[in-house]
Amino acid sequence: MTTTLDCDDLVMGSGMAGLAVAARLAHAGRRVLVVEAHDTPGGYAHTFDLGRYRFCAQVHYIFGCRPGGSVHGLLDGLDLLERVPFLELDPDGYDHVVVAGDRYRIPSGWETFRDRAVELFPDEAKSLHRYFDIVGEIENELAKLPDSIGIVDVLAAPLRFPRLIQMRTWTLGRLFDKLRLSPRVRTVLAGQCGDYLLPPSRVSLLLHATLVTAYGSGAFYPRHHYHHLVDTLVESINARPGCQVLLEHEIDGIDVDDRRVNSVHTATGRRLRAHRFISNMDPLATVNLAGAGAIPDRFVRGLSDDYSYGGISLYLGLRDIDLREFGFGSYNVWSYPHDDLDQIYTDQGERNDLSDPWLFMSTATLHSDEPGLAPPGCQTLQVATHASYDEWSALRERDPRTYRREKKKLRNHLLDVIEARFIPGLRDHIDVFALGTPPTNERFVHAPRGNSYGTALTPEHVNPSRHPLRALENLWLVNASAGWPSVAGTIGSGRRLANELLEESL
Ligand SMILES: Cc1cc2nc3c(=O)[nH]c(=O)nc-3n(C[C@H](O)[C@H](O)[C@H](O)COP(=O)(O)OP(=O)(O)OC[C@H]3O[C@@H](n4cnc5c(N)ncnc54)[C@H](O)[C@@H]3O)c2cc1C
Repeated sequence: MTTTLDCDDLVMGSGMAGLAVAARLAHAGRRVLVVEAHDTPGGYAHTFDLGRYRFCAQVHYIFGCRPGGSVHGLLDGLDLLERVPFLELDPDGYDHVVVAGDRYRIPSGWETFRDRAVELFPDEAKSLHRYFDIVGEIENELAKLPDSIGIVDVLAAPLRFPRLIQMRTWTLGRLFDKLRLSPRVRTVLAGQCGDYLLPPSRVSLLLHATLVTAYGSGAFYPRHHYHHLVDTLVESINARPGCQVLLEHEIDGIDVDDRRVNSVHTATGRRLRAHRFISNMDPLATVNLAGAGAIPDRFVRGLSDDYSYGGISLYLGLRDIDLREFGFGSYNVWSYPHDDLDQIYTDQGERNDLSDPWLFMSTATLHSDEPGLAPPGCQTLQVATHASYDEWSALRERDPRTYRREKKKLRNHLLDVIEARFIPGLRDHIDVFALGTPPTNERFVHAPRGNSYGTALTPEHVNPSRHPLRALENLWLVNASAGWPSVAGTIGSGRRLANELLEESL
């Protein structure tokens, strides 16, 4: 262990929260070092090559790109707004929910969505109005929440935040039950539930409200694709004096002395010192790297290992086909075999039964026509669903050959399902393919149990004033589990933390 490198702020991990906090601090003149295990920055938002095609590992569409949103705010503060333009997905239906063959388009605009739902399901108009009112009220109250809550806020809370107080522990399913909505209406309203990977009976109503209203106010895709967004942030850090994003340096230890981090060390044999340390890694993984007793017990007890489900991702590069002829376009498609979302989630997530799966399908080459993802005239299709981490991980550990065989079986099955539901003859057009399982995500971005959105987004884990965490005097945690998931959520948490740190260093 020889090399020593000093900086002001050291960020462990280059996921979107890590890059946001680092870029903001670097822009403000701090000497920032980002230390990333992978050979590519971005965490779940990283891009990889497959033959002549490129795929963003996990991100498909984002919110927060209009003025007032976290992504817009970050880029504006870094003078990068013009370099990273966004395209809005089709406002008349940025998500299409297809249930047993029936297609419903989810439009931008909360009132437009409400009016469309009422027109489609007039018998349930009264309940639908209640649903849209309540979810809208929750979102309005969430938008008014102050960054830090003082005694005056607590005293005024019953008047200012009645819905948050009343519904803090509610699930979406509880609201559906109260409003006696029909199975089909429930499926349409919860049709984007893969964005939080929980069925109505388990997801926090507050989280659902945040998500659907955020996408409802504009769903976007970066004109030059996700790698351009990530690369631009990395360049903005590297361009600052004394700042660097260091790839292929896995952190394998955090030295703590007297409740302060002194340095971190890497598997490549470097010891890196800084004044302040920010972990973009999973909170419990960070605690483990610091070693037993280094971080106060009362802090550790507040962390959870109840993670969100891991995903299955199928990446397809396609030639001689135009997916627009098969119901795809500047939108995503959510496909469900029937209306019982709770049953589907249990079958897939608990029993690893993917015989009749839900599918999310996204077509990046139809979201922006900028070159860079596929050879001329070719297209990409990304398909996602979820599965049991335990099953796939055990198989991979026990018998890698069987694991590979099962992956192939699953790939073939998913292709059968897509051919039957959407694209007959799809196989004839496949140029390249790859399939990732929950352990794949664990391997590439060190996400425990291959979790997709940090801790499970149930009411017990969703705290409306959820903050980046301070574990020690000079150690902060910011990522999907410490803060909020999604690109806009993690960027928002990263910006918020950077502002706090900049105030503190004045
Ligand atoms: C299937 C799927 C689909 C999704 N779709 C969308 C979408 O369409 N839109 C959206 O907004 N969000 C989406 N998300 C969620 C979103 O991608 C994540 O919430 C967000 O990107 C997480 O960012 P993060 O900052 O928490 O860090 P992560 O992305 O988790 O990155 C953490 C980084 O830390 C690094 N790291 C970990 N351990 C170490 C170590 N020991 N040493 C050095 N580096 C380390 C990792 O390599 C990684 O780069 C999706 C997620 C999944 C799984």
